Amino acid sequence: MVSFIDVDTIFSETYSEARSKFCAAASRAGLECENHPLTLVGEQGEQLAIDVVRLGSTKPRQVILLTSGAHGVEGFAGSALQTGIIESQWARDIPSDMAIVLVHALNPHGMSWSRRECEDGTDLPRNLSHHLYPPFPNEQYELFQPLLVPPNVTAQTLASLPGKSERIMSEHGIDNATPILRSGQYTHANGLTYHGVEASWSTRRWIEITRQFAGRAEDVMMIDVHTGFGDYGDLLVQNPSYRHSSPAYSTLCQWLGREPTGYSDDGSILQHRIETFEALHRQTKNGSRVAAMYFEFGTLPPSEFIDPWVVNNWHFHNGDRSGPEARTARKKFADFHYVRKLDWKKSVWEKGIAQLSDLRDGLVGSQYAV
Ligand SMILES: [Zn+2]
Repeated sequence: MVSFIDVDTIFSETYSEARSKFCAAASRAGLECENHPLTLVGEQGEQLAIDVVRLGSTKPRQVILLTSGAHGVEGFAGSALQTGIIESQWARDIPSDMAIVLVHALNPHGMSWSRRECEDGTDLPRNLSHHLYPPFPNEQYELFQPLLVPPNVTAQTLASLPGKSERIMSEHGIDNATPILRSGQYTHANGLTYHGVEASWSTRRWIEITRQFAGRAEDVMMIDVHTGFGDYGDLLVQNPSYRHSSPAYSTLCQWLGREPTGYSDDGSILQHRIETFEALHRQTKNGSRVAAMYFEFGTLPPSEFIDPWVVNNWHFHNGDRSGPEARTARKKFADFHYVRKLDWKKSVWEKGIAQLSDLRDGLVGSQYAV
């Protein structure tokens, strides 16, 4: 049973507003909010932090860990979902041995500065487990780095990039550059999809929080909320990189009641034999059942993504971050990941909470089906 809420009120315009709403909702509900402050400040000079609220059992047998903002700028849908869960009292019907753990803004720096990356340039979901392994080369990424981080971002330079990209692709026999970018790289902290060579601040906190809140549970369901992929307002439940032969993939299918979407054995990340959530699996106890998934809420067509990403990244690293061009670039990139229209917000809330309810039921039901 979900109490009615005014959907517009759970969404925010800025990181600091999102954080305030989340913490205030917890306070009104009499819930403790644990803070993990970052030493850097945000775009408006505000304190940055990861905030954690637990609903339900303090010694849970089953845990749902719902995380937002791993890709910074994508954090507004997940934040609204988390605040809405508290406001609507969605968790009041959960079994007495279950906990819902809400981890708000895993990458607060990126959420505040409208960036996917953390303060050290890492892509957090990639850094999460890739930092456990030696770096691997991605020579084809090197071909594109000068285009992804160009010398300047004038209209003329931007207009020349597709032609340069096509030339590189035909010279090197590349049909599709997307998997090259998705595979990530370890060599350019100012580039895109940078794995990082050590655990970022957000990775270390994500690991600690998982161990603290889910380390002794029998069943651990992890849901990491993203935006920017899929049809407008739709929700895709995605496999975060489990091979089809992985036990976690079977658990995920069982809890979900169907197969998730997204890659698994297509080679985009698995060619490196690294599962995205491995570092978190390691925090759970032996014999527990663990599965992670992404919620992906669709926004705008993918063709509107790459240029704003390049321009915003360029201004962050090269320009005056407080200048008007940098501010415009941030807004444009943020607008791709967060549609500030009521129909989109309603869709995110309604589809998100319906899928969460199904997953909760799948988790409860699965204990009798093993
Ligand atoms: Zn994402």
